[in-house]
Formats: sequence, C-alpha cells, structure tokens
Amino acid sequence: MLGFYSRTLIALAVALALSLMAWPWHGPLGTALAFIALLLLILAFHVRQLGKLHAWLKNPTMEQVPESFGTWEAVYHRLYQMVRTQFRSQQKLSSALDRFISAGEAMPDGVVVLNEKDRIEWCNPVAMRHFGLDRRQDIGQQISYLVRNPDFVEYLHALDYAHPLNFRPSRSQELLLSVQLVPFDSTRKLLISRDITQLEKVQTVLRDFVANVSHELRTPLTVIGGFLETLLDLEHPDPAATTRYMRLMLDQAKRMQRIVEDLLILSRLENGQNQSRDEPVNIPQMLQSIFADAQTISADRHHITLDLATEFHVLGNRDELYSAFSNLVSNAIRYTPEGGDIRLVWKTENRRAVFSVTDTGIGIDPQHIPRLTERFYRVDKGRSRDTGGTGLGLAIVKHILLRHHATLEIQSQPGMGSCFQACFPPDRLAVQAASPAMIAKP
Ligand code: ADP
Repeated sequence: MLGFYSRTLIALAVALALSLMAWPWHGPLGTALAFIALLLLILAFHVRQLGKLHAWLKNPTMEQVPESFGTWEAVYHRLYQMVRTQFRSQQKLSSALDRFISAGEAMPDGVVVLNEKDRIEWCNPVAMRHFGLDRRQDIGQQISYLVRNPDFVEYLHALDYAHPLNFRPSRSQELLLSVQLVPFDSTRKLLISRDITQLEKVQTVLRDFVANVSHELRTPLTVIGGFLETLLDLEHPDPAATTRYMRLMLDQAKRMQRIVEDLLILSRLENGQNQSRDEPVNIPQMLQSIFADAQTISADRHHITLDLATEFHVLGNRDELYSAFSNLVSNAIRYTPEGGDIRLVWKTENRRAVFSVTDTGIGIDPQHIPRLTERFYRVDKGRSRDTGGTGLGLAIVKHILLRHHATLEIQSQPGMGSCFQACFPPDRLAVQAASPAMIAKP
C-alpha cells in the first residue's frame, strides 16, 4: 500500500512527465504552461474532494462516507474506520445505558436523580407515582418545588442523609413514604423512596393488639389481686365470704383462660398451622349436636329451632367449622334476652349453602357491623364481659370462614334482632352418595 505522500508525489511526477512530453513541439514555455495546467487540474480535484468531505462532515453517517481514489482513497478509508469504531462504541454505550435505565425503571422503589442544584435529571415510574411527577414536564425542575412537604424540604437542605425520612406527600395523605437521599458523583444525589403504608398499618395493628391484650388481661388480674389482698388482710376470714371470693377469683381466672385460648386459636388460624387435609364434614349431623348444646346453654330461656333444609356436606375442617358455627349460636343466646327466638337454618341459596342464625335479640347499630370481626371489638363491653365474651369470637369465625372460602354476612337492627349467615361457595360443597342429584355444579 502506498503512503499518503508517495501518492501525491506520484501524481506530481506524472503531471511533470506529461508536460515534458510537450517540450519538442512547444519548447520550455509550452511545457511550463502544460505543467501549470495539470497542477491546476490536480488542485481542482483536491478542492472538489475537500468539498465532499465538508458536506459529509455536516451529517457524518457510516453509510455515506465519500469514495474516491489516490490520496483521498486513503483519507476516506481512515475516516470510514474511525466512524465505524466510534459507531460500535456508541452502540455499546447506549445498550449499557439502556440496561441501566431499564433496571432503574423496573426497581420496586422510587428513584430520582438530582443534579447539583437539586433539579430532576431522571426518575423512574415508581417515583412518578410516589411524588406525582410527570417526566415530560418535570425534568429539570427543582425537586423542592414539586415535593413541597416542609419536612422533606428541611431534610433536603439539612445535608444530613444518614437516616431516612418518613412523611405523607401532601397530594395523597393516605400514602406513607420513607425517603432517603444518597449523594454520589461528588455533586449529584439519588432520591430513593419506598411505600411503607402497609408496613405502618401492620405495626399499628400490632401495637393496638398488644395494648388490647394487656388491657383485657389486666382487668381480671386486678380483680384477683384485690380479692387476694382482702383475704390476706382478714384476721379471721369468714368461710362463707372466703368461698364467695374464691368463686369470683375463679370466674376471673376462667375469663383469662378463655381469652388466652381464643388468642391461641386465632394465632394458629392466622399462621395456617394444623391445616389438615379438607374432608367432607357432615353439617346436618354437626348442627344437631350444636343445637343440643344450645338448648343446654339456654336452659329453656329461649325458643330455639333447627331447620335442615339441605343435606349438603362442606369440604373442610370439622373442628374449625364446629367452632365457627357454635360461636354464632352462642352469640345469639348471649345477646337475646329471655323469651326470645333463635332460629338455626342450613339451606341452599343462589347455589351457595348457607348456615344462618337468626335471633330476636338486642340487635346491632349499622355503624358497628363492618367492625364486628375485628379482634376485641364489642358494641357493648359490659354485656360482652358479663356473658363471658372475649371479643374474639367473630374474629375467629371470620378466619375460619376465610379458610373455607366462605363469607360472613350480617344483618341487624337495634332492638329487632340479628341474622348472621355463613355462606359457602359451590366448590366447597359435597353431598352424600345417596343423593348425587344435589351436587352443585360450580
Ligand atoms: P364477644 O365475645 O364480645 O361476644 P364477638 O367477637 O363474638 O365477641 O362479637 C363481637 C361483638 O358483636 C359483641 O361484643 C356484640 O356486641 C356483637 N354481637 C355479636 N353477635 C351478636 C348478636 N347475635 N346480637 C347482638 N350483638 C352481637
């Protein structure tokens, strides 16, 4: 391959040789003129090539690198190689950048890149949701203009980012964010945001639960402690009074025991422990037994009836279903004054099997109904405790029904009575071999 200068020299040598050929006819002057003319031609060729190069440089693409010959062929060949190398490294860089951007976009946390003046350079979709940002118009904007929470603005300007900050964005108060600023690149910052609304709710429930349990256990403990002190202070305790105190203490001890037992049942249900395989449970037979128990507990104070309108069995856990159904029945007895009616029915309705307990008791104000299945929620605390309630019965019922894909429906009117219904979907129903026609089609 000839070098850059040798090609130029050859071109000049050819021009000189051609002009010398004119010497015999036109003498030295003609030769000189011919050489000048050839030089001008070479110059014109180079100017034209420069023009092509200039035009290409305005929009340099790999496909349109100019082509030529001689000296310019070498120049263009070099150019083509340079452009190709640059194009490849650009491609590598942009695919690396694309990968980083897609990773940032896919992050479950919000990410905002801030420049040295706290203006937004980039943000991912989660951050857009958290802070209500719009990438089309908010890029380049100062973050403190868009996230105006005073705590956040103070955190941003305090320059101490060792700990995260929790705050509720003013545009959506139900959202609780944990944000942390991470300086990088000597001037820039990453703003990372995480939605901790659910976590906070769980912590609140846990705090309330601990407070409730302590409260529930403290009352009977105080009573027992009080009686014990009284007994200790008595110099000559009267046996009849002692027996009475003992009975009262036993009542309180039993109450604590019931609370602890219910709590253990709830915790087992919530942790999904002891989940034996589901089997067909003979509900009509089970209800006969619950009905007999109800009559014993009521001791003829109520008029109780049982109506088995269907023979469906339910796929599930017998002990759990027994516990849920008897909870509903025992509530009806406890919240229905003497002489009231309690009606137990096992029936089908809209392809579901329904166990309903209807009473003519004290009823419930509608505002309480959505909260009845919360742990320790009671409409009338005194009445619940007096009748041996723990405030956990319906929470247990809800969990058991949930495990059986069933729902609890409550209708009630103060002073008129209540109706609690456990409704089982078709895929939970089974029937004795004797009456296959009754199998519900899901
Ligand atoms: P408790 O042990 O207090 O009965 P539950 O969880 O079983 O706890 O019930 C929660 C609350 O729902 C009760 O305190 C009571 O106020 C109300 N409740 C439940 N069943 C009935 C009912 N059949 N009639 C009236 N109120 C009821």
